[in-house]
Amino acid sequence: MNENLDILRHSTSHLMAQAVKDLFPGVKVAIGPSIENGFYYDFDYDPGFTEEDLEKIEKRMKEIIATNIPIECKVMKRDEAFEFFTKMGETYKVKLLEDIHDAEVNTYTQGSFTDLCRGPHLPSTGKIKAFKLLSLAGAYWRGDEHNKMLTRIYGTAFPDEKSLKEYITFLEEVKKRDHRRLGKELDLFSISDEVGAGLVIYHPNGALLRYLLEDFERKEHLKRGYQFVYGPHIMKLDMWKKSGHFENYRENMYFTKIDEVEYGIKPMNCLAHIMVYKSQIRSYRDLPLRYFELGTVSRHEKSGVLHGLMRVREFTQDDAHIFSRPDQLHQEILGIIRFVQDVMAIFGFQFEMEISTRPSKSIGSDEDWERAEKALKEVLDSEGLPYELNEGDGAFYGPKIDIKLKDAIGRKWQCATIQCDFALPERFDLTYMDSDGKRKRPVMLHRVVLGAMERFIGVLIEHYGGKFPVWLAPVQVMIMNITDDQEPYVKNIYNTMIEEGIRAELDTRNEKLGLKIRESVVKKIPYMVIVGKNEMENDSIAVRIRDGGELKDIKVADFIHRIKEDNTLRR
Ligand SMILES: [Zn+2]
Ligand SMILES: [Zn+2]
Repeated sequence: MNENLDILRHSTSHLMAQAVKDLFPGVKVAIGPSIENGFYYDFDYDPGFTEEDLEKIEKRMKEIIATNIPIECKVMKRDEAFEFFTKMGETYKVKLLEDIHDAEVNTYTQGSFTDLCRGPHLPSTGKIKAFKLLSLAGAYWRGDEHNKMLTRIYGTAFPDEKSLKEYITFLEEVKKRDHRRLGKELDLFSISDEVGAGLVIYHPNGALLRYLLEDFERKEHLKRGYQFVYGPHIMKLDMWKKSGHFENYRENMYFTKIDEVEYGIKPMNCLAHIMVYKSQIRSYRDLPLRYFELGTVSRHEKSGVLHGLMRVREFTQDDAHIFSRPDQLHQEILGIIRFVQDVMAIFGFQFEMEISTRPSKSIGSDEDWERAEKALKEVLDSEGLPYELNEGDGAFYGPKIDIKLKDAIGRKWQCATIQCDFALPERFDLTYMDSDGKRKRPVMLHRVVLGAMERFIGVLIEHYGGKFPVWLAPVQVMIMNITDDQEPYVKNIYNTMIEEGIRAELDTRNEKLGLKIRESVVKKIPYMVIVGKNEMENDSIAVRIRDGGELKDIKVADFIHRIKEDNTLRR
C-alpha cells in the first residue's frame, strides 16, 4: 500500500474517533487501522450508531479539520500510559497495553483525544482534505465471537476531492453491479437458508445462461482435441487416501457411508480421469490425452467466506486433465494459455498471471516440484508473458499458474488455473510405453479455463452489469403488441422466432405499452420487438435496441438474420 495514503487514512481514523468521543460521551475506543481502500475504527457504544449519526460525525470531523489542531506524538513510560488510559476509562487501550512489553510506548494527541498508537501520523488535522464515512458493521473485539460485539465505522480518505469522488463513483458502480441483486432482478438464481448456505438453485434464466456457457465450452474443447468423460460423485475413501486428498484436503471434504464402506464426496474431478487413463495400456503415440468434464464438486467452505455465487459449497468446474509426455509439457501448457487468451478475449477480459509455488502441506519430491515450477516458468518466459510469484500458494500436488481476470471496472477475479503435477501419476502408478520400449511416467496437468461455472457466472453478471451480449442473453427478444388486434400477428412472429432457435418471449398482456417496455428494460433484454397497426399492415416489425437505436419497419426474416449474426460473432 502507498505509505502516504496509509498515514492519511490512519490519521482520518483518529480524527473520526476524536469526533465520536466529542459527540457521544461514554464511548470507548478499541482499534482503528487503515485498510485497503480506507480505514475503520471499532467503538464500544451500547446504543450503537445510526446512518444519521454518520452525518453528524462527518460534520464534527470537518469542524476539527478547520481548526487545524496539531497531532503530537508523545513517548510515555508503559506504566504511565497504563495509568493514563485507565483513568480515561479506555479499557480496550488498557487491554492492548497488557500485550505490549516495551518499556516505552507512543501516544498521539490531537486536542482532547489521545490514542495509543505506533504512528506515524500527519502533523495536524488540517492536512486531511477529502474523506467520507461509508458504512457501519458489527465486529467482535479481537475478532473473537466470545468477546463483546463492537460497532465498526468504515470510511475512506484521499489526498484530494477528485480522487475521493472517483472512488465513491466506483463503489456505486460495484453496488449497481452486485450479482446477488442482479441475480434476483433478472431472476437467474437463488440461495436459500432452507436449502443450505452456499448451495445454488438455478432459475430458468440462470439455467439457460449456464447451458449457453457450457455449450460454448464443449465446442471450444472439442476444437482443441479434448475428449469428454464423466466420473461419479462419490468414491471409496481408499481412493482419496491413495491420492493424498484425505491427508491434505480432508477439512474441505464431505464423507458418507454405504453398506459399511466409507466414501468421500469428490472435491475435485481428477481421480475418475486417472481411472480412464489407467483403463488401457498407453503408448507414447497415444499422448497427450486430454480429458474434459463439466464436473460438479463439493467442498466444505467456512460459512464466513461464502458469498453469493462467488464462493459456494457445490459448484461445477470446466475441468480437464492432460496426460502428457515430459517432452510435450511445454506445448501443452502453452496450448492452455492460448485457450484462455482466446476465451477471455470473447468476454472482453484482460488478465494477469501468477505462479504459485509449493505449500507447506504437499506431496511429491523436491525434485518433482522444481521440475514442475521450472516447466511453468519456462512457458511464460519464452512467450514473454509477465507474471508474479506467489510463494507457498500451490496445490498440494503441484505448482500452478493462476490467471486473474480484470473486469469492466478493474476488479480482479481468480478463475483459470493450470497446475503441473508429477505426484499423482506416481501415486497411481501411471505409465506409458516409450519409443525405447521402456515404461515411463506421464506428467499430469490439471486445468480449468472458466473455473467454477457459478463463480464465472457471478463475475460475468458484474462484468456486464447484467447486460449480457446477445449471444449469451437468456432472453434475446421480448415481443410485444400495442393493442389486442395484433395478438395473432405477434404470436406468429414468436413461433417463427423460437423455431429458428431465437430465445424470444412474448408479452401480450393487456397493459400499456410503456409498462411493457419498462419491464423489459429492467430485465436488460437486448431487443424489444414492438408491433402496432402500421407494422401489422406492412407485414413488418419495429425493434428497439437495448443500448440505443431503433430498427424501423424491418422484416422478421431480416431481424432473425441479425440475431443469428450476433450469435456467430458472439456480440
Ligand atoms: Zn493510531
Ligand atoms: Zn485435478
